[in-house]
Amino acid sequence: MSNTKPFLNRYQTYDFVNRNPVIKNKVDVSHGTVLYMEGVSISFDGFKALNDLSLYINDGELRCLIGPNGAGKTTLMDVITGKTKPDAGSVYFGQTIDLLQMDESEIARAGICRKFQKPSVFEKLSVFENLELSMQSNRGTWVALFASLNSEQRDRIDEVLEIIGMTALRFQSAGILSHGQKQWLEIGMLLMQKPRVMLVDEPVAGMTNQEIDRTAELLLSLEGKHSVIVVEHDMEFIRSIAKKVTVLHEGSVLTEGTMDEVQNDPRVIQVYLGE
Ligand code: ADP
Ligand code: MG
Repeated sequence: MSNTKPFLNRYQTYDFVNRNPVIKNKVDVSHGTVLYMEGVSISFDGFKALNDLSLYINDGELRCLIGPNGAGKTTLMDVITGKTKPDAGSVYFGQTIDLLQMDESEIARAGICRKFQKPSVFEKLSVFENLELSMQSNRGTWVALFASLNSEQRDRIDEVLEIIGMTALRFQSAGILSHGQKQWLEIGMLLMQKPRVMLVDEPVAGMTNQEIDRTAELLLSLEGKHSVIVVEHDMEFIRSIAKKVTVLHEGSVLTEGTMDEVQNDPRVIQVYLGE
């Protein structure tokens, strides 16, 4: 039959059938590096937002990324997560996974997730339900709609509630949480996916001092279990969590080191004076 309707064509394949299996357990970190960016450049209307940038993140490391406005920090995160493809360079997840060959959703499913500045929790749902829902992509929508949680899934929610310090708030509706609590819940929602790499953009903007301290504790507690890249302008906060700090300037790495090393580097002082 020549006029077979497209959806009846048995040779047609569908996206949901072909979905890549979750490959996050197969990331080859035998050299200790979970993320490689080499020679990455990207121009917008002739302006080089990233300029021959190279960056290496160790498996399980907590890395701080700083730099004046326009340095390229957000663009760097856009490239890692597949939102933007660079003009040149390579970006690898472990030794073997070429992120430039993957789209945004494939990269997310592979275990690289991103926390945007503005929290986007489901206000009408409870803390617990928000975490439950964020498990959805692992369970498949079909399962999420019709099956109840198994004990392993409940355990994971309990574990994440503990990590984000919100066990006592599990039945609270998310709409009445404080700004800080919403941010932690959203970090928890990302943790439900057991990401290998988490990118966190300005997590403490708008937080009280107490919330900032708690966020520092939370991010530090992830070390070794997830690789986390934190972009933040609050230098006091960065100092409280920093091991290795990368300073970005004009789309390239200006320097890397401990907080003391970079803060005393005359080149770093120079670029921040220009702000
Ligand atoms: P940062 O996050 O460090 O402040 P960005 O990565 O947001 O810096 O931006 C780096 C530079 O690239 C800025 O000058 C910005 O204006 C420019 N830029 C970023 N994204 C785009 C885009 N989509 N189109 C045009 N210019 C952009
Ligand atoms: Mg930015």
